Amino acid sequence: MKLRSIFDAAELRTEFEIAGINPQFIPLIWKYVIQNPNCEWNEVPSLPSSAYPLLRSKFKPSTSTLHSVFDSIDEVTTKLLIKLQNGAFVEAVIMRYDTRLGKYAGQPRPGGLRSTLCISSQVGCKMGCKFCATGSMGFKNNLSSGEIVEQLVHASHLSQIRNVVFMGMGEPLNNYTALVEAVRVMTAPPFQLSPKRITVSTVGITHAIKKIQSDIPNVNLAVSLHAPVQDIRCQIMPAARAFPLERLMDTLREYQKNSQQKILIEYILLDGVNDEEQHAHQLGQLLETFEVVVNLIPFNPIGILSKFKTSSEQKPNFQVKRFSWAFKSRYWIGKEKLDICICMGNDIPLKPQREY
Ligand code: SF4
Repeated sequence: MKLRSIFDAAELRTEFEIAGINPQFIPLIWKYVIQNPNCEWNEVPSLPSSAYPLLRSKFKPSTSTLHSVFDSIDEVTTKLLIKLQNGAFVEAVIMRYDTRLGKYAGQPRPGGLRSTLCISSQVGCKMGCKFCATGSMGFKNNLSSGEIVEQLVHASHLSQIRNVVFMGMGEPLNNYTALVEAVRVMTAPPFQLSPKRITVSTVGITHAIKKIQSDIPNVNLAVSLHAPVQDIRCQIMPAARAFPLERLMDTLREYQKNSQQKILIEYILLDGVNDEEQHAHQLGQLLETFEVVVNLIPFNPIGILSKFKTSSEQKPNFQVKRFSWAFKSRYWIGKEKLDICICMGNDIPLKPQREY
């Protein structure tokens, strides 16, 4: 029989309820498993005697394994390749930002080193964004909430994780129940991440955005906008046909009115597609009445995605600068509503696989 992850909280709670075991033991079990990832159930101390056979017959401390680890040459980024119980692989990425040196967003900020974990919610993705390697794989399967949380557990053995972003493989809002359950586990003991340190990224699944506010309040919302008009969005993001820009912006307006939170807007710069100055102005107009942070992302051309080019090939960051200048000069300065942060892309030179 296939065993569930101990971090599949809903199943664990149900089994405990049926067996008459107090759910207060759950955080203690999780804490022990995080500290002793290869433990046997009989080693977990102080549980009611009925808990041990139940755990042995239905749950595993970890259903996934850390298959390989790669550090970037500058040691800012670590990629984790994680093998799931069904043999599929997902990626999680740890990003370490030294805010004193201003590596994050190009803006010096007070504070110190902070680690953000980018995690996956699906194997593959059905949204088919044309600039995305995962989108070209098609959809394979949803991750369980336990498999999502296990990425945090694996990463926490390598780094102290302060922030989690759902920006890895998959569209998290297409795996909504598992996403909500995983966020609830991450914000509960022993993880106790603040919801304000969790960001959920979506291409704009409007009906699910409407539910986030009540199901997982105070998490941050990131929207992969990538184009300021519906035509261009449809060209590069087929899902935009089902979730038209006008409806998406209405949903975001309602979301922001209720949540009073800034929204992160992700915008990948594709040469000659969405990176002209007019697009910057269109984007500014579109977002003028919102409180947003715009994340401009240089495109990283790989394999079958080579039909797109990085903005301004001779000077890879020129277009980013020009774009943010046009955008800031008209819509940011004076209004202080829009903020720009520049992501330096994901074309990161890696060291050989780490021994661990
Ligand atoms: Fe890729 Fe995200 Fe688009 Fe899916 S939704 S295809 S993972 S960019």
